Amino acid sequence: MISSIPKWVSNLFGNTMRPNVKVLETSYISSQIKKIRFQGDISKWSFQIGYASVVRVSETEFRNYTVTFHDKEKEIFEIIFHIHGNGVGSRYIDTLKLNDKLFISPPRGKKLYEKNVKRQFFFGDETSLGVAFALLPLLKKNNHQFQFYFELEEVNKNIPELLGLENYTTFPKNNSFRNEKWISNLSLFQTDEWDTANFALTGNVKSVQAFRKVLKDKTQGNIYSQGYWLEGKKGL
Ligand SMILES: Cc1cc2nc3c(=O)[nH]c(=O)nc-3n(C[C@H](O)[C@H](O)[C@H](O)COP(=O)(O)OP(=O)(O)OC[C@H]3O[C@@H](n4cnc5c(N)ncnc54)[C@H](O)[C@@H]3O)c2cc1C
Repeated sequence: MISSIPKWVSNLFGNTMRPNVKVLETSYISSQIKKIRFQGDISKWSFQIGYASVVRVSETEFRNYTVTFHDKEKEIFEIIFHIHGNGVGSRYIDTLKLNDKLFISPPRGKKLYEKNVKRQFFFGDETSLGVAFALLPLLKKNNHQFQFYFELEEVNKNIPELLGLENYTTFPKNNSFRNEKWISNLSLFQTDEWDTANFALTGNVKSVQAFRKVLKDKTQGNIYSQGYWLEGKKGL
């Protein structure tokens, strides 16, 4: 996925990426989690669980973010951003305020929800809260048995509760999810109940990779995985 373009390309095609949405409301759920409501013409946008929109965060830089809620009639949508402070995207989003205008693309990408599987398991971190929030109503409506696991910084550990998420377990972000032996001991693997579940793994690339490896060894389930960020890498 392209996260930056040369300036000459931006000059040439800049018009198609001109601001198309406006900031309607901003709020901080914690010092690191910012929710923004945008307004724009989203009538032709397709919203699927797992899809992401590209946000133009500078003249030449673009970053992926998940629309967590939308209302086509009111022409509004929301995104939950992790303000981690390490990158141009995070810093730009932190500055956004009422009436600011920016470019956000229609959502596209990989779907992560498989309706026909009874048991659904979801793993992620701060960057995954938006997709988890969008997924919850579907899991409830379609009577799934479901479980969320989140690895979160201490300052964000009560965010799932504040967002009204259900059936979640939070873990400290202390690299445990890099350790395959530690992952193998999670309660998830202590029964065969989850053996044929649908597994969606998101968030940090290294955590996703280690978790995926254990799931492949220990279950028959269908695994969807997409890393959302990687240490030292700009944009994914
Ligand atoms: C499909 C998809 C959906 C996504 N949805 C969301 C979403 O809804 N909300 C959201 O907040 N993010 C989401 N992300 C993740 C987001 O695109 C990345 O975190 C992105 O790297 C942020 O850009 P940046 O400019 O702030 O940092 P970059 O310039 O990309 O990176 C600079 C440095 O910051 C580090 N970094 C990047 N992200 C994080 C982080 N989360 N925590 C700590 N360090 C980090 C990098 O490792 C790098 O060292 C999604 C990513 C994908 C691929």
